[in-house]
Amino acid sequence: MARYTGAVCRQCRREGKKLFLKGERCYSDKCAIARRAYAPGQHGQGRKKSSEYGLQLRAKQMTKRYYGVLESQFRKYYGLAEKKEGKTGEALLAILESRLDNTVYRMGWASSHAEARQLVTHGHFTINGKRVDIPSYLTKPGEVIAICENSRSSEKFKAVMEANASRPVPKYLEVAQGAFEGKVVAFAQRDEIDLDVDETLIVELYSK
Ligand code: SF4
Repeated sequence: MARYTGAVCRQCRREGKKLFLKGERCYSDKCAIARRAYAPGQHGQGRKKSSEYGLQLRAKQMTKRYYGVLESQFRKYYGLAEKKEGKTGEALLAILESRLDNTVYRMGWASSHAEARQLVTHGHFTINGKRVDIPSYLTKPGEVIAICENSRSSEKFKAVMEANASRPVPKYLEVAQGAFEGKVVAFAQRDEIDLDVDETLIVELYSK
């Protein structure tokens, strides 16, 4: 399946929730959810009840969209989560949280997952001193993520870091405000993951 290239805000409206896909706009009164809090399309305002399957599908789609992950990758992460001890749904979210693009976003170095993915692809970050340009790289506790030396003076980074200064950094990451490097200190716990989804619905869907 190809990456979604349609209107980004439609994805939030389809899920009925803010997925924070457009950076600063998401926090403004221009947010489409604030203006039209119903599903897009001709029947958007008529859709109310969902079947059990519908709820499971929506939980999976919303999570995929939030992290900007394709179906095949998402399935792969689910397979990895199944092999981990503990609850599969929580392990799945912890794996998604550990992606390098998400880590960059959580550290406040990008305004959205899409921007984080682009910055990673353009080679602006190092892990333990080595440049890594793969957004799907799974970070591990102990790894130090840093903005490359020659990107630190960029006006773009300064503006993004200023704009995101008030966004809280989850406890599993350690980064000082305005710092150019930070550390992954642990795997993400469910209560540290800022995503309003019932992950058990995803497990139910894939367990059929
Ligand atoms: Fe979603 Fe952001 Fe668009 Fe609002 S502005 S609908 S949160 S992507």
